[in-house]
Amino acid sequence: MREIRRPAVLALAVLLTGCSKTQTEKLIVTKQPFGKTPEGAPVDLYTMTNSKGVRVSITNYGGIIVSLFTPDRNGQAGDIVLGFERLEDYLKGHPYFGAIVGRYGNRIAKGRFTLDGVTYKLAQNNGENHLHGGLKGFDKKLWQAGDWTDAEGQHLQLSYTSPDGEEGYPGTLNVRVTYTLNEQNQFRIDYAATTDKATVVNLTNHSYFNLAGEGDILGHLLRLNADRFTPVDAGLIPTGELRPVKGTPFDFTAPTAIGARIEQNDEQLRFGRGYDHNFVLRGGGGALAEAAEIYEPKTGRVLKVLTSEPGVQFYTGNFLDGTLTGKGGRVYVRRSGLCLETQHFPDSPNQPAFPSTVLRPGETYRSTTVWEFSAR
Ligand code: BGC
Repeated sequence: MREIRRPAVLALAVLLTGCSKTQTEKLIVTKQPFGKTPEGAPVDLYTMTNSKGVRVSITNYGGIIVSLFTPDRNGQAGDIVLGFERLEDYLKGHPYFGAIVGRYGNRIAKGRFTLDGVTYKLAQNNGENHLHGGLKGFDKKLWQAGDWTDAEGQHLQLSYTSPDGEEGYPGTLNVRVTYTLNEQNQFRIDYAATTDKATVVNLTNHSYFNLAGEGDILGHLLRLNADRFTPVDAGLIPTGELRPVKGTPFDFTAPTAIGARIEQNDEQLRFGRGYDHNFVLRGGGGALAEAAEIYEPKTGRVLKVLTSEPGVQFYTGNFLDGTLTGKGGRVYVRRSGLCLETQHFPDSPNQPAFPSTVLRPGETYRSTTVWEFSAR
């Protein structure tokens, strides 16, 4: 109802302020060609810019956040996510840079689960386990896109219908992901999904952040609103235990440098080759609540993460190995980016004690994550 279409925005702005088209165009979503899929379908790049110096570019291939500029403490804009300049580089393969991950983000043990007495088999694309939706997950799909601007901000809505049986999952899943940038320097991701058969859903975004825009992330300070985490086995599948972080290198309840304890002789850190673990958020999900804050001392940039999810996977880019070169010729070495993947716990379909990830016909899956940018 509050939707304002582009020509109307321009006309109104010119009328009210006498602004030129170029000035007002900055405040609406812009769209430009971003190449073609191997099948020849055109792909676009959408850009949202607010008046406070935040600019985010997103492609409808995989819903990938390609770049995200935020001001540092001197007002200097810098790109705080890993990624590529060209679609071709994404098509060649990458570890989920900036992408929408689904139908099930994170791992499902041995690539199988049983739901209502039926066992479903999924791709075992991570050793013997299933990871991030399989061989061609939501990160590799072309999404339908629509954008609009209203009083809340600029929006990009991506839609995808995942057919029944895709990657082994039951049920036709209609998915909608809405990205919103507002004038309060908040970037919001709203996920919604419905199904025609019982299935499992766990959607997230896999952006790798580096608030300095260079180097590694070991000097970033992290605070996590979590008193427990889910320890894993050597294949990174949760054991089922919810272990207190107190007295372990997993205690980020007070801001702590990510590198401070990452090399400690700790079995969990060895399994992950660093941090690659799900944290149990205080409050348990449902309502939007603060999950994490990262502070980068050199630039002063701060990223606050709020989510309605019960967990967050904190991953320190341990598997980046310098073989990928990204934007501006930057080589992505080990730990050059960190992920905070808001989510339900890994392997929930096989862990009855974890919050359920089952979605049934007639229900709507909803999840929201907000990234709030500032500097100090
Ligand atoms: C997983 C890592 C994995 C990475 C890239 C993360 O979500 O937890 O183990 O290497 O994604 O695939």
